[in-house]
Amino acid sequence: MPLTIALDGPVGAGKSTVADETARRLGILHLDTGAMYRAMGLWALKQGVDIADEQAVTELAAHTRITVRYAEGMQHTLVENQDVTGSIRTPEVSMAASTVARYAGVRKAMVALQQKLAAEQPMLVDGRDIGIRVLPNATLKVFLTASAEERARRRFLELQKKGLTDTYDEVLAELLQDPKRCEEWHRSQKLDDDPRITPVGRILRQTSLDEGPESWCNHLESGSYSNPSSKQPSCRSGCRRSRHQ
Ligand code: C5P
Repeated sequence: MPLTIALDGPVGAGKSTVADETARRLGILHLDTGAMYRAMGLWALKQGVDIADEQAVTELAAHTRITVRYAEGMQHTLVENQDVTGSIRTPEVSMAASTVARYAGVRKAMVALQQKLAAEQPMLVDGRDIGIRVLPNATLKVFLTASAEERARRRFLELQKKGLTDTYDEVLAELLQDPKRCEEWHRSQKLDDDPRITPVGRILRQTSLDEGPESWCNHLESGSYSNPSSKQPSCRSGCRRSRHQ
């Protein structure tokens, strides 16, 4: 089994930035699982399927081919062989993705694909439920978190870039009150307590970009991480590669 790193954490913790940088330094691919749910949301919109109709969306997911390809280390997400990478970051698609990602049938199809990809090559996989459901036997599991204020700051800047006028206080209040995000946060807390999460977890966003990849690598090389449920595959080539960059 190739090296797998599972990166979990709540919305706004900075997972994608850290994942991109870490995968680059380790010389492995980064699978952005959110892009797959976005592609499914976009496809449902394009096909005129009612996003709120779980049965219709599940049916569509069962007959839709979502794949990822890599060009110069960058992920391209495809639906029915069409590259949709450039169209999945709109607010409309974000909302559709968030809805379709709740449907069990959609999750089942996406998780199966994520597991297949991670079984084929060394990968860092980021998104929700990765350490628990997608890669329960990952070589290394990292839980990335940040304070509610830091997460709100990031979301605030993101919304500003899109021209939306919410104030920072509104964003923070929304983040603390919004049931979905709260639920997600609580789930993350539970995940954080899970004994299968390695001690290297709980790296704060502020330090992880600079120190994360190196410290993750040290854990991988020294074998100081513990994941009793899995056979430990070798990760030395990935770590050595990063050292030589
Ligand atoms: O991370 P991103 O915003 O691109 O994710 C798009 C949507 O898919 C979000 O609503 C996110 O919660 C959901 N998602 C998920 N499981 C994942 C990755 C993303 O439910 N593994």
